[in-house]
Amino acid sequence: MTKTERSAKNLEEVKELNLMRVLKLTHKMGVCSRSQLAAMSGLKQSTITNIVNRLIEYGVVRETGSFEGKKGRRSIGITLETEKYRVIGVRLTRTNFLAGIFSIDGRPEQIVTNQIGGSESVEEILEQIERTIRGLIRCAPHKVVAIGMAVPGPYLMNSGRVLLITGARNWEKVNFKKQLAEKFSIPFYIEHDANAGALAEWWYGKHRLEEKTYLYIAAGSGIGAGIIINGQVFHGSLGIAGEIGHMTIRCDGKPCACGNRGCLERYASSTAICEEITQRMERGEACSLHREFTFAQAREAYRNGDAVVRDAFLQGARYLGIGIASMLYTYNPDIVIVGDETALAGEEYLEQVRRTVRERVLPEVYQATEIYSCSFPQDPAFIGAAALALEESFQQPSKLLSILAEE
Ligand SMILES: [Zn+2]
Repeated sequence: MTKTERSAKNLEEVKELNLMRVLKLTHKMGVCSRSQLAAMSGLKQSTITNIVNRLIEYGVVRETGSFEGKKGRRSIGITLETEKYRVIGVRLTRTNFLAGIFSIDGRPEQIVTNQIGGSESVEEILEQIERTIRGLIRCAPHKVVAIGMAVPGPYLMNSGRVLLITGARNWEKVNFKKQLAEKFSIPFYIEHDANAGALAEWWYGKHRLEEKTYLYIAAGSGIGAGIIINGQVFHGSLGIAGEIGHMTIRCDGKPCACGNRGCLERYASSTAICEEITQRMERGEACSLHREFTFAQAREAYRNGDAVVRDAFLQGARYLGIGIASMLYTYNPDIVIVGDETALAGEEYLEQVRRTVRERVLPEVYQATEIYSCSFPQDPAFIGAAALALEESFQQPSKLLSILAEE
């Protein structure tokens, strides 16, 4: 590459980076003025004017009319255009998949849910997912610019494969990139579900997370952590960073499908909580649940004050707290957000998690860390799949603009 070519490339990269910063700031601010964008991004007013004009031309942002800024001064507001484009979010779990059209502000507009039984092959399920997405693209009210998908892990980002889904068959043979993503002409991004949940919190959550280091703990039938360091997802070498479900918390503990013993998810996942309840029932302890029960029914029994079920939940919370305590020393986050189906158990459950963390880390460390439940009543990884599509589209704004420019 010649010197001129190199500097041209650098100039393009700088332009791309500036576009990305303006887009992300506009999202975080909701409505802001051109001068606010200049002040926050550190870019010159003239650069901001050029960028905003370009984004308006492509329909990515729009003017809102005048609004009152600092010191009562009135300026023209800039906000993300929510009517011109859409993304699709897909969430695959062990038992079902959800796909939906999402607006730019994270509202699902149309959701398709499909149960996964025991009889279909993984290839058939992939075909079903592909068909569902194509159907959604056809009926979307505006152009779909990207697809995001959240998959259970450990997910190998580079190769596009899931290493193991405990309790589900054959997914490890599937290459999600080749067998699904590459079949679409629009960008298709895939993330581990905990990372997707972490992105959902960043994009649409209640807490201010901008440049923070935070953990999103997905405590469902498996356990994973989305690790965000200074606003960026941390993937590690293979992409499996945050697979804390397979972190050892009891050295000679229960065997796990990963080949290890004493993994966190054998003690703190919703599966482990159900297992504990079943064992207690088999020992003859009185419990309001029937022999065959779902985790949602167990959660209901917990809320209704069933003592056996409550013990099992609080024991799960203690183990989760032990796992989180170790994570505090590894990543020293500002915030830990606990989500997915066990977190829906409520405040007492979360308080037990907090109490365990407090007992196990130095007081200064505990005091400097906030532990919250997640911002969403529904599945955060599903919203996170849409957030992923937007995050990646905003990371590569020129690609987004070229898709919007296509007829
Ligand atoms: Zn394991």
